[in-house]
Amino acid sequence: MGTMTAALTDAHMEVQALAREFAAAEIAPRAADWNARTHVPVDVIRRMGELGLLAPTIPERYGGPGLDATALCLIVEEIARADAGLAVPIAVQAGLVASPLLRAGTDAQKEEWLPRLATGEVLGCYALTEPDAGSDTAALRTRAEPDGDGWQITGAKQWISNGALAEVFIIFARTGGEGARGISAFITGPADGLLVGREIPKLGLHTSSTVELSFDAMPVGPEARLGPEGEGLKLALATLDGGRITVAAQACGIAQAAIDLAVSYASGRDAFGGPIARFQGVQFPIADVAARLDAARLLTHHAAGLRDAGKPHGPAGAKAKLVASAVAVAAADVAVQTLGGYGYSAEYAAERLYRDAKITEIYEGTSQIQRLVIARDLFGDAAR
Ligand SMILES: Cc1cc2nc3c(=O)[nH]c(=O)nc-3n(C[C@H](O)[C@H](O)[C@H](O)COP(=O)(O)OP(=O)(O)OC[C@H]3O[C@@H](n4cnc5c(N)ncnc54)[C@H](O)[C@@H]3O)c2cc1C
Repeated sequence: MGTMTAALTDAHMEVQALAREFAAAEIAPRAADWNARTHVPVDVIRRMGELGLLAPTIPERYGGPGLDATALCLIVEEIARADAGLAVPIAVQAGLVASPLLRAGTDAQKEEWLPRLATGEVLGCYALTEPDAGSDTAALRTRAEPDGDGWQITGAKQWISNGALAEVFIIFARTGGEGARGISAFITGPADGLLVGREIPKLGLHTSSTVELSFDAMPVGPEARLGPEGEGLKLALATLDGGRITVAAQACGIAQAAIDLAVSYASGRDAFGGPIARFQGVQFPIADVAARLDAARLLTHHAAGLRDAGKPHGPAGAKAKLVASAVAVAAADVAVQTLGGYGYSAEYAAERLYRDAKITEIYEGTSQIQRLVIARDLFGDAAR
């Protein structure tokens, strides 16, 4: 049961086992309580860092485990299976912070941040979305005004995962005129003028921190710019091409947990003189989502494999996320239905899975935006 292992190497299976054991021992038994209290267990996040689970794709020369995108997917799936919210810091640290740093960072920026990101000594966040610019990222309004050799950043960011825990910030801000080419990326520690807003109450992911960030003339030095001026949005979108694969893996973990729960509950619950598992009306919806989950996982690993091979993986990642997030939502729905009234109660994980699954259709590009990416690949310029 669980993740198919046909194409996985020994190293993949080792890290998958490590993540699975950690999740079973340290996360699964406490996830319901943390979620009920909307508690973000920072100690568990740091521990994942110590074990090399937080940013496994950071190369060994920077003190990381040097694993590939497939390994990252395996880890994210196992952690999400125990608690979807605790997969978020991994998706952010590896997929949204280390990844653009490895892609566009100077040697000095990499030396400064990667070793500490690898071990979880510092946690990062990725600040792209704004109150008035989500899907339409090119409309962002946060500004970086020249100030001596560096800049002063002013503006507001919305929905920033890990924002309240972060010691390093990737910020996208406007250094030029309107549109995509006026945006640059920055990497910086906290500085005067940074205001971390309140935790935003949300439907699910109660173990994940989500906050507003605002910047009031926050000074950043010349060493903070990440990549060339005006190429920030390109970097942001390339980062999301990879990040989406990680969200697809998170969705697979949620779907797997839902199927596991539905199967075990149906096998033990009696109605009309025997276990409900004997009814095809109970079996078939679970069989359907189990088949769709295998397909979603294969798409996810395919996209990760393309990324590992250095090949274009934007449309493949979009397809993986589109399919996997829909399976997560469907499987969680099946789990709630299979458990009947108990599925609706907070006593079982089904209702949490139902609430957590939905986010995978929204962040790192909504399902509509994934369709846009896929359509642009199909139609080329005719789709613009
Ligand atoms: C829990 C959580 C964590 C997040 N973490 C982060 C983070 O760490 N960093 C970060 O930068 N952002 C983060 N986000 C933001 C997230 O990526 C955005 O919410 C998402 O991209 C959608 O943007 P929006 O909310 O502004 O919706 P909008 O862009 O306003 O979209 C509203 C609706 O319109 C649809 N729509 C928009 N444009 C089109 C179009 N062209 N065609 C068809 N439909 C369209 C959308 O699909 C959606 O259904 C997070 C969000 C949440 C909820």
